[in-house]
Amino acid sequence: MPKTTPGQAKNSIRRALRTVNDPEPSTSEITQLWEYFSSRCAYCARTLNRAHREGHIDHLISSGTNHISNRVLACASCNGDEKRESDWIEFLRGKTSSELEFRSRREHIQLWCSSHAPKQPRLIDAEVQAEIDRALEAFDIALANLRRLRKAHSDDD
Ligand SMILES: [Zn+2]
Repeated sequence: MPKTTPGQAKNSIRRALRTVNDPEPSTSEITQLWEYFSSRCAYCARTLNRAHREGHIDHLISSGTNHISNRVLACASCNGDEKRESDWIEFLRGKTSSELEFRSRREHIQLWCSSHAPKQPRLIDAEVQAEIDRALEAFDIALANLRRLRKAHSDDD
């Protein structure tokens, strides 16, 4: 088993606690996404094979949430291209060959987003950060206690 340093453990704690507030989509939500986009890339319309793991559950706005309303089905190539904040519309324009095609794909994506808006508001970042700080503080105290105990025992020898 690989060694886990306290620093790595703290990063895992941080990540795990953040995920509680911003979970990844469920399997059934991902199935809905595949159906809604008819197993095609939302940007370039390439046909994707789910069994061959060809589809990517791409973040529409890369700095946005993990929620399904910010995700579209994408091919590896479109998913790999960096789409900065709200730049996906410009990105889509480059992937379409006519104004009609562009408008139709944009509307299809926008309808997916608006019809899957989150039912539950996310907690504010400060609340999440306060809980993470509390957990890491408890971790540091436990770590210091264990190190002190070990040292005390070795001094006894
Ligand atoms: Zn694509």
